[in-house]
Amino acid sequence: MEVEAMQTFEVGDAVVPEEGGDIAGTGDAAVTGRVTAALTRLLPALERYHATADAPHFPAYVPGTVPSEPLALPDDGVGLDATLDELAVAVEHGCRISAPGFVGFITTGATTSGVAAATATALAGGQRYLVHAFNALERTGIRWLAELCGLPADTYGVLSSGGSTAQLLALGAARQAAFERLGVDVAADGLAGGVRGRIYVSDRGHRTIHRAAAVLGLGRDAVRGIPSLPGGQVDPDALEAALAQDRAAGLVPIAIVAVAGSTDTGSVDPIARLVEIARRHDTWLHVDGAYGLLANASPTQAPAFDGVRDADSWIVDPHKWLATGVGVGATFVRDADVLTRAFAEGEAAYLEGSFSTVPEDGASQFDLMAGAWADQSLELSAPPRGVLVWAVLREIGRAGLAARIDRHVGFARHLAARVAAEPRLELLCDAQLSIVCFRYAPPPGVDGDVLTARVLERLRRETPFVPSSTVVRGVYALRPCFINPRTTRREVDGLVDAVLRFGDEATSTPR
Ligand SMILES: *Cc1c(COP(=O)(O)O)cnc(C)c1O
Repeated sequence: MEVEAMQTFEVGDAVVPEEGGDIAGTGDAAVTGRVTAALTRLLPALERYHATADAPHFPAYVPGTVPSEPLALPDDGVGLDATLDELAVAVEHGCRISAPGFVGFITTGATTSGVAAATATALAGGQRYLVHAFNALERTGIRWLAELCGLPADTYGVLSSGGSTAQLLALGAARQAAFERLGVDVAADGLAGGVRGRIYVSDRGHRTIHRAAAVLGLGRDAVRGIPSLPGGQVDPDALEAALAQDRAAGLVPIAIVAVAGSTDTGSVDPIARLVEIARRHDTWLHVDGAYGLLANASPTQAPAFDGVRDADSWIVDPHKWLATGVGVGATFVRDADVLTRAFAEGEAAYLEGSFSTVPEDGASQFDLMAGAWADQSLELSAPPRGVLVWAVLREIGRAGLAARIDRHVGFARHLAARVAAEPRLELLCDAQLSIVCFRYAPPPGVDGDVLTARVLERLRRETPFVPSSTVVRGVYALRPCFINPRTTRREVDGLVDAVLRFGDEATSTPR
């Protein structure tokens, strides 16, 4: 179904009961209509949430407003209106990762089109299967994502809840391919005792790779950490040496993982070089681009991703730089059939007979009961998350995303320049993509890690500027990452100024 086809849909006569109750008169305790009234009741709280996003700091909890202990399960419900009023209180004390000064983790809340798309999806999106408008928009969202990341046109994509699951799917496909080369269908037969696989990634590799290895039966220790060079990129020579050594020891190489935007420092591995190594060793090349791969949509950043088209699988998180709202990750593979062989459910009597090859002529949306995604991921039931991707990209386009990425990369460079020019601060890694690592330079005799911890605690408690922390070459560091569309230069400078102030106070006051 083409996106254009949607415009032929016509809105029929709405059936909206005037007062309460369910639309169909079933007597169910849940209201099924009155959506306008319900959302209207919530709107003041939703608007106030945005208005207070600039608050000087965000206390964890306002005593008396939100119950701190789980309440007793109600026997009789309080009804829709009272429930909405409690929800409004929760909104006001909601999660503040969307605030402009929050530059920790690498996630942020949805921008407005994402909020609207999520609302529409909750109401009308149903399942990602069947043939309907949301299903069509999901396909479009997946295709646009692949194109933005610079992946080949025939790349196959499936969405999941985030990078962790996306990683597991990609590495599951890699495991399947690796054992098929040895004549083993590992999805059907399981891992034979004594067979040991290996996944190669730099010591900057995300821990979700280790978890995927554990779930896939390879074991966390199957992930071999390859030393990184001072800039954070994997050392290709060390990778080659490890592959040769393991091959000689009879280990099965499952995948080489190229980190395309490391979570600690933003470094991007030399992907073209890793592809070449993978080909020579007949091994799968997976790109962990959960954070960084979308930067390939920016012409100024694209050179860092040279060779990315030639990988076998990729992951990218729309809930990071695209700001769809948390809960959307994407896996892309070159060969969809491997993914299917790795994750097929096996036949279910109630489903198999429902598959159809009827062309999508619009005769019935139930002609195609389930799409292939059911056999290519961990989830059978799943919402059409791609609608959020579609909505944000329809709104801002490729140029809007590229401008956001360039702006955020500029923030990182500006921050790094300020740190480099200020003797009281210490730059711990150069700006890479939109990440910088730095700290207040400890005067002689002061423990730098303790000082950084003190500064970070005061940032969280007293300011709206909240970075993450990490460890760079053994040093505890502040690590802001700019992906939040709401962040401005004011927050970037505010963070630096606050670090200076807290550092000054911590080092001049006798303690
Ligand atoms: C965020 C991230 C992940 C994990 O993704 P989630 O969406 O948090 O599950 C994996 N790899 C990298 C490089 C990341 O930045």
